[in-house]
Amino acid sequence: MPLEARGSRTGIGYDSHRFTDTGPMVLGGVTIAGSRGLEGHSDADAIAHALTDAVLGAAVEDDIGTLFPDSDPANRGRSSIEMLALAVERVQGRALRVIHADIVVIAEEPRIGPHRAAIRANIARALGVSDDAVSVKGKTNEGMGWIGRGEGLACIAVATLSPMS
Ligand code: MG
Repeated sequence: MPLEARGSRTGIGYDSHRFTDTGPMVLGGVTIAGSRGLEGHSDADAIAHALTDAVLGAAVEDDIGTLFPDSDPANRGRSSIEMLALAVERVQGRALRVIHADIVVIAEEPRIGPHRAAIRANIARALGVSDDAVSVKGKTNEGMGWIGRGEGLACIAVATLSPMS
């Protein structure tokens, strides 16, 4: 095993989606009642998308758009938590397991706090870790730019993988 494969690896993922008038939105596998929706080919779950890319990036695998292309009808309306679980399976095939994830949602709305526990539980289940290994937080963009104008939201995620021994 090469030396660099013996330690833990960190991957980063980013995603953004435009708001639509047809809701509700799904974030981290949680349906947020009363919220505007997010535009997208799948369920537009920006947390799951960013985190999927973080997991894949840590393993230096192809990104989410390559593995689950928009052009494939099978991905239309697909549960993004399911895609995240498939990415985890893929890195497990490379003898890597997820040990931690940290997620930031940048949006003027909705507030993440009331949904944090449910999102952490969904993400933890998909990653195969305990809730304590998943951090989720919300930030506004202080009214600046496209996020500040309420055009959509963004998500940044980091995942740490460890070699299975
Ligand atoms: Mg996306």
